[in-house]
Amino acid sequence: MSQETITRIQGGSFLIKEVSLEDVFTPEDFTEEHRMIAETAEQFVANEVVPRIEELEAKKEGLNEELLRKAAEIGLLGAGVPQAYGGEGLDQISSTILAEKTGRYGSFATTFGAHTGIGTLPIVYFGREQQKSKYLPKLASGEWIAAYALTEAESGSDALNARTKAALSPDGQHYLLNGTKMFITNAAFAHVFITFAKVDGEKFTAFVVERDFPGVSVGPEEHKMGIRGSSTRTLILENARVPAENVLGEVGNGHKIAFNVLNFGRFKLGASVVAGVRYVTNEAIRYAQGRRQFGKPIIEFGAIQHKLAEMAIQILCAESMVYRTVGLIDAAMCSIDKTSPQAAVETLKALEDYVVECSVIKVANSEILDFVVDEALQIYGGYGYSEDYPVERCYRDARINRIFEGTNEINRLLITGQLLKRAMKGQLGLIAASQRLLAESLSFPAPAEDNGSLLSVERRLVASAKKMFLLASGVAVQKYRDKMAEQQEVLSLLSDLVIGVYAMESLLLRVLKGVGRDGPARWGLQAKAAEVFIHSQLTALEDKTRQILAATSEGDELRTHLAALRRFAKAMPVDVIRRRQEIAQKLNEAGKYCLS
Ligand SMILES: Cc1cc2nc3c(=O)[nH]c(=O)nc-3n(C[C@H](O)[C@H](O)[C@H](O)COP(=O)(O)OP(=O)(O)OC[C@H]3O[C@@H](n4cnc5c(N)ncnc54)[C@H](O)[C@@H]3O)c2cc1C
Repeated sequence: MSQETITRIQGGSFLIKEVSLEDVFTPEDFTEEHRMIAETAEQFVANEVVPRIEELEAKKEGLNEELLRKAAEIGLLGAGVPQAYGGEGLDQISSTILAEKTGRYGSFATTFGAHTGIGTLPIVYFGREQQKSKYLPKLASGEWIAAYALTEAESGSDALNARTKAALSPDGQHYLLNGTKMFITNAAFAHVFITFAKVDGEKFTAFVVERDFPGVSVGPEEHKMGIRGSSTRTLILENARVPAENVLGEVGNGHKIAFNVLNFGRFKLGASVVAGVRYVTNEAIRYAQGRRQFGKPIIEFGAIQHKLAEMAIQILCAESMVYRTVGLIDAAMCSIDKTSPQAAVETLKALEDYVVECSVIKVANSEILDFVVDEALQIYGGYGYSEDYPVERCYRDARINRIFEGTNEINRLLITGQLLKRAMKGQLGLIAASQRLLAESLSFPAPAEDNGSLLSVERRLVASAKKMFLLASGVAVQKYRDKMAEQQEVLSLLSDLVIGVYAMESLLLRVLKGVGRDGPARWGLQAKAAEVFIHSQLTALEDKTRQILAATSEGDELRTHLAALRRFAKAMPVDVIRRRQEIAQKLNEAGKYCLS
């Protein structure tokens, strides 16, 4: 399928519109080139990185740089860098495939992501010509490594509250930067730090700071719980002399760089954890096949089958969300003239439209990873708790993903905050849709009939989940109005509804598209996965909607809303236990994850 055939779809509109199958990108739509990129990246990690995990964990000096340079030799570092500056200038889908396939080992994924993503992309999108030609060829070739320095001791989530100051020298040639940045990935060996400081203590600004500039140094390594093979240090700026030409973008516009780049970073993080999820699941399947208790392999026990089936279902779902989203982003970017001087700005504008989807993926997939490593460790029993087995490291490595690139709490607030902001500005028809639904629910319409076709019930349930969001958000907005931003618990629950809708729908659309193309036989197992996922999710979302309604309405009004909710959520339960058993049986036969 050519990407040009996907229609540009407005970000966030999935909550109010039906999506047609032609407009959904899935891993099955990869071109031959995409498949080759996937294979190259996977082979690189398997052959070059995995054999050296022990050395990386022991912080062998020079090894991360060596691996990054090797990755550069086969073009893995320059995916996001235009060809004119020595990169590959790959499309968004290819860059996402790279992020995903290099994600198997958390430490390397972090090192790689910080360099190619948040370290390099600010220069790609905001750099002036002279900055691009000076830095990008070096970054694409791995000669130089990049880092991104935003966080400070007093300003983490509240990043704009930075204390680091920049003062222009009297001759206007240099800025003197003073301050300390915390937790900077790649700090041990980075040559370039995208650093944020306030000019005159007020104007939040981005700078390209070279390690060798006078006054720049780094602190000792942090002793971390996980991703120990990556470097995390403070960046210390003591009268650091940064040439005035190294201001990135405009003075006072650093927030645009910081947040747009983090948006990219979040999406890529969500993509990269998928490889980790798949790896850990495969290890758990193999272990469960080999480990015998009570005279048989533990994979034959229902309790273990339940876990493995859920893990596999979550992988299918995580992948579906990632590739659906990059399909949307890529379609939006297809229309941009890459040779125009406005190309970078338009690219960012296109990406900004999908800020909700990017945060959804960051939160959903980091939590899927945590779920999967936790279940995998449980399957290993006491051995999972031992450093002798890789699952112990994976468990520790996974945890950071809910904290960096914006904590999941902040991303949840951002999801609903962005949606409501667009709704208030009239850019997204949420308010009208919600009012229609509230009016409709007063007239007690009969529940829609299912037509009996494959996954028709689940289609209706996804539509019901959207109604739950519209109902709950409509009632909440009516109650809190301009105080809505203060209602964090409600906003976070609403985000869970958004995440649930996107996850359910992405999985459903992928399966339906597959069935349409290859027939139901090839997609039978995945259809079962979709049934299990959607029915279980709907119950969870119904509970969250109930919590919001109970907090935002009372008496007869609450009773009316709850009656509407019961109608949306009405569904004959499917036998999810049998379906999980069937999925687990196939995993056992394949000896690995086999849903995609
Ligand atoms: C291994 C590692 C690598 C990192 N790499 C980098 C890097 O390369 N570059 C960089 O700049 N930073 C990096 N970071 C920093 C990371 O991005 C921050 O730790 C993160 O943004 C959270 O900031 P904080 O730790 O100060 O937590 P805080 O902001 O203090 O948050 C503490 C808790 O309060 C919650 N909270 C905060 N504000 C709110 C609010 N308004 N509403 C509700 N809850 C709230 C948070 O969700 C969290 O649960 C890294 C961190 C680690 C641990």
